[in-house]
Amino acid sequence: MPHSSGGGSFSGGSHGSFSSSSSTSSTPIYHTYRPGTHRYVYYHRYRPHYYFSEKQAEASSKYAIPFMIVFALFWIGVSIPFWFMTVNHPKRLSMNYDSNIEISDCLDIMSDSEEAQLREELAEFQDLTGITPSVLTIPNSEWKSDYKSLERYAFTYYVKRYDDEKHWLIVYAGDGASGYEDWNWEGMQGDDTDNVLTTAITDKFNRVMHNELRAGYTVKEAISDSFEEINPVVMETSVNWLLVVFLIFHGGFALVVWSIVFWSCIKNRNRGESYPCPTNEATPVEVTCNSCGGVYVQGIHHACPHCGVRLIPPQMPYGQAQMPYGQAQMPYGQAQMPYGQAKVQGNVVKPEYTPVNKQAGVNPDLF
Ligand SMILES: [Zn+2]
Repeated sequence: MPHSSGGGSFSGGSHGSFSSSSSTSSTPIYHTYRPGTHRYVYYHRYRPHYYFSEKQAEASSKYAIPFMIVFALFWIGVSIPFWFMTVNHPKRLSMNYDSNIEISDCLDIMSDSEEAQLREELAEFQDLTGITPSVLTIPNSEWKSDYKSLERYAFTYYVKRYDDEKHWLIVYAGDGASGYEDWNWEGMQGDDTDNVLTTAITDKFNRVMHNELRAGYTVKEAISDSFEEINPVVMETSVNWLLVVFLIFHGGFALVVWSIVFWSCIKNRNRGESYPCPTNEATPVEVTCNSCGGVYVQGIHHACPHCGVRLIPPQMPYGQAQMPYGQAQMPYGQAQMPYGQAKVQGNVVKPEYTPVNKQAGVNPDLF
């Protein structure tokens, strides 16, 4: 369907606003000790990190980070076409249609030589663009009797007259010889011309046309000068800087919000794998793993939290671990002792496996 070229409106714009709610954990997390809190440790990049909280931080959903990545890819995917829209490469239309240039001067306001001259200028535009311009002049009475606006009239005329979307019809309506006090004009462009007849081009055309008609130029002069104005630039590649600036701010804002949410997801994921520390006040004893060089807190792991190598308990006094050789070799029958008797063996007394130790993943064998 053809549409008006006489005052188009910019129809690009936003593709939806970005909104996201920051994920915050329900339990507050502190960097220093507060009454009622406990020290927790988590590991990131082979280093221990501490935080204080009333309870262990909950890990964010394991889907949070993949979701954020998919969301970002989706966002970028949606934005790409808008970036392409910032640059317009006009392409000449193929002339596989009835491309007769028509000048129908029903008002009889152009002389034959003027008409011939105008036809040449319209042909020049057609050569450049592949768009066929047509000029129609009519008395006001012709459209005012049956149509609410000249735009409606021009639309109906276009659809009835041309079966393609490659014409640019310019309709001038006036009262002929009685002067130009009451005049209207309207441009109607086929859909296929949009790539060439951009708003920037038609605005340029309309400005000259309108100003010259107001200044009392003849219709022929006004139309000729308007085409002369756009012909040199109509096929030039243009950049929509307003859209570029908009996209930069739009994307920049989204990037900032996304980064904040993504960073909090990463933090939550790390904190989720955290351990209660043996002490709240003093800085815990940090030990470097012999296998991987990672640093961990002493007294809460039986295996290196970084590489998983089993840790040798350093605290046990040598003598107590060594049982007399003879006692270890028990007759088979004696090994099956009632439960109570098994609790105390030699000098080694096992500590109770308390709920606190259990929570901390403490292996009582290590003490
Ligand atoms: Zn290790």
